[in-house]
Amino acid sequence: IPGLMQNLPLNISQILRFAATAHGDREIVSKDCDGKLFRYDYAGALSRAAAGAEWLMSLGLEPGDRISSLAWNTHRHFELFFAAPGKGLVLHTANPRLPDEHIAFTINHAESRVLLYDANLHEIVERLKPALHTIEHFVMLTGDDYDRRIAEFSGTTLWPDLEENSGAFLCYTSGTTGDPKGVLYSHRSVVLHALVAGLSGALGFSAFDVILPCQSLYHATAWGLPFAGAINGAKFVFPCDKFDGASLQELIKSEGVTFSGGVPTIWTMYLDHLARTGEDTGTLERVVIGGSAVPRAMAETFETQYGVKVRQIWGMTEMSPLGVLATPTPKVAALGHDEMNDIIWTRQGRLQFGVELKIVDDDGQDLPHDGVAAGNVLVRGPWVLERYYRQSVSALDADGWFDTGDIATVDANGFMRITDRKKDVIKSGGEWISSIDIENVAVACPGVKIAAVVGVFHPKWEERPLLVIERMPESVLDEEAVRAWLEPRLVRWWLPDRVIFDYIPLTATGKIDKKALRGRYADCLSV
Ligand code: ADP
Repeated sequence: IPGLMQNLPLNISQILRFAATAHGDREIVSKDCDGKLFRYDYAGALSRAAAGAEWLMSLGLEPGDRISSLAWNTHRHFELFFAAPGKGLVLHTANPRLPDEHIAFTINHAESRVLLYDANLHEIVERLKPALHTIEHFVMLTGDDYDRRIAEFSGTTLWPDLEENSGAFLCYTSGTTGDPKGVLYSHRSVVLHALVAGLSGALGFSAFDVILPCQSLYHATAWGLPFAGAINGAKFVFPCDKFDGASLQELIKSEGVTFSGGVPTIWTMYLDHLARTGEDTGTLERVVIGGSAVPRAMAETFETQYGVKVRQIWGMTEMSPLGVLATPTPKVAALGHDEMNDIIWTRQGRLQFGVELKIVDDDGQDLPHDGVAAGNVLVRGPWVLERYYRQSVSALDADGWFDTGDIATVDANGFMRITDRKKDVIKSGGEWISSIDIENVAVACPGVKIAAVVGVFHPKWEERPLLVIERMPESVLDEEAVRAWLEPRLVRWWLPDRVIFDYIPLTATGKIDKKALRGRYADCLSV
């Protein structure tokens, strides 16, 4: 029999409307491209988002149409996160750090009709213009171009009740393995993801939080932070594109930031800044780090030197992106401080409500959760992709599971540890070597800034690990010292065949670009 409760659809506009009503004067602070700070509150954000929505619809857009943004972490971009989906439009958040041809590919693939961009990305837009076939309106967000247009509208728009499964955000994977692929989030998936992400065993938000998102708004909607934060009435501080240690520190100190998040590279720069200046972390309480493996040394330094808790997250664009998150449970806490830290500093995280997860071998057989058996990670859930945008075939297997392409173990406490990405795993004489495990050991060696391990062709073993190290600026670390560090900490046959000191390239989402490294050193063990 049908339930007898109100059947109201979950809509993204409800989030900002709620924040403006229940936490209307909670502040939102935003750095502009010119470095100036802009301040307003949730009530102000709602009225500007409404005016933005009215302006967008005045261009003749229809529900279901796509628009693209090419923009940083600012209040205007935040407003667009509600303005566009609130009227049934789909916001495609293009990634400005991708190569030109990939940016153009994603905008054309989305068939966007409007492109909104930040001032310091003007040159990219000028270069791309001839290749963008569907854009009818190019509008600069920064300066007074956008502000002037929306000022002509009243900002009192009525937000329609949209079908909750309609598309809201179009996010593309970074295309490290071919053309970028579009993932189309729905209103329902975004709202459910935001509710769970804020839970205390996950990001643990409250109205007392001051959130500084250092994951880009264009990367899987900054891991859903804008929505999870607004639902909880948290204050937001947007850093534009200034993610260097000194700029973050300035905002953390001046705005009383309690929570921040981003990829490990950003936190390497931040900890480096603290070590150089001798400053402390002020009001900062928690940092969520993910996108690539968090080095144990990073989590340990944050907690033991600065009293800041690290919450490692694992996920992917296809998962909106939350998969697992590392927070203690009573059972893990009962193991004692050291053992608990050992678990939460070295695991990607534990299961969260809404994501079903299993590990299987190459024949699809379930593997035990014993912390030893490593297998392919498959997931299911209301914010996991069903198929890529414009694909006629499902991305799921016959039983409805999505293969993440990651390889992991799960222990008896439900904590998952990624050992590799399928395409990065090293096969030496038929046996697997985890590149992530070697990187974790290497990055803890004093003087190492970034460590990357890739498998390169070897005439006898097929592949052997090569360790590439980018040193701290002042470091004189040499191969002998690195080997002395690795030897007692790794099994013998995992020891890299070569150690090379070089600059390490990063992808557009801040991960180590292993494809580029494999290309650069393809022949280094074959001669
Ligand atoms: P793309 O696939 O486009 O590079 P994503 O951000 O979606 O961008 O990447 C998701 C992948 O990043 C995951 O499949 C996993 O391999 C890796 N990843 C994410 N978080 C972690 C983490 N905490 N530890 C190790 N790997 C991670």
